[in-house]
Amino acid sequence: MKQIVVVSGKGGTGKTSFTAAFAELAGRSVVLVDADVDAANLALLLDGSDEPPREYQAGRLARIDPVRCTGCGLCVDACRFDALHLAEPHRVVLQDLACEGCGVCAVVCPEDAVSFVPQRAGQWTVRDTAFGPLVHAELVPGAGNSGKLVALLRETSRGLAERLAASWLLIDGPPGIGCPVHAAVTGTDLLVAVTEPTPSALHDLERLLELAARFRLPAAVVLNKADLDPAGTDLVEAAVAARGVELLGRVPFDPEVPRRLAAGTGLLTVPGVRDAVVACWAAVARRAGRANASAAEEGRDAAV
Ligand code: SF4
Ligand code: SF4
Repeated sequence: MKQIVVVSGKGGTGKTSFTAAFAELAGRSVVLVDADVDAANLALLLDGSDEPPREYQAGRLARIDPVRCTGCGLCVDACRFDALHLAEPHRVVLQDLACEGCGVCAVVCPEDAVSFVPQRAGQWTVRDTAFGPLVHAELVPGAGNSGKLVALLRETSRGLAERLAASWLLIDGPPGIGCPVHAAVTGTDLLVAVTEPTPSALHDLERLLELAARFRLPAAVVLNKADLDPAGTDLVEAAVAARGVELLGRVPFDPEVPRRLAAGTGLLTVPGVRDAVVACWAAVARRAGRANASAAEEGRDAAV
């Protein structure tokens, strides 16, 4: 099984639609993960039925027992996160969104009035799609620990892929280069960065390629909307070449793409785009095989 993570650094480059197209081209031997848990949308492109959702808990929240609490205010003064307030004499109010579950309030409380409950941070499920199972999740807005949730999705999808003897594990990565991205890219066979010929996309691409180098991950680039700005395309190609990273393909812009995506069909239904995406996937498959072979030759796991 080859694990491919598709990332873009910023939104709007077409990362998710490429992941969906790659899933279709993977010959129905694929398990998918939407690791963009803050704004998951791969499921919007892949029809199917979801299993009942499982709750995702992360961290804990303080609870004040109003019977024991005397309203002394010690916990209010001690809370560094400003989560506690004295609403009126003898009544403490806790704001769940501000509580970090650090436990200081329980330490200072002379009345043993503080307890803790697990924090519900989201939910996750498995969707049965036409191309294979899709593991996806929804994080509660403002909830932290998205990296931990991505790690959970990765672990679940890997077990699923092994049980199904799937050839591919395709991960739609989160934006940025922070903790959720680290959780999404770790241990993959190939990082595919989807970019555009714009200065901001190039900046994000540079940061992603630096991340890949730091994690010692094989990386390659897909240049989307390549014909929109020839000068921008030259800059991206020069930056990619300077790093010795392979450009898997150039995909032309077609105004039909957003219309088809909005209608629930994918990149592969747009004739001029289809050939380029098929060529990109062929290059991904070749590179994934090559990446693993070279790792084996070096006597180490390509993953970090
Ligand atoms: S657990 Fe920490 S953050 Fe939450 S209310 Fe208590 S002191 Fe404040
Ligand atoms: S320290 Fe304990 S008793 Fe004092 S206000 Fe906080 S919860 Fe109530």
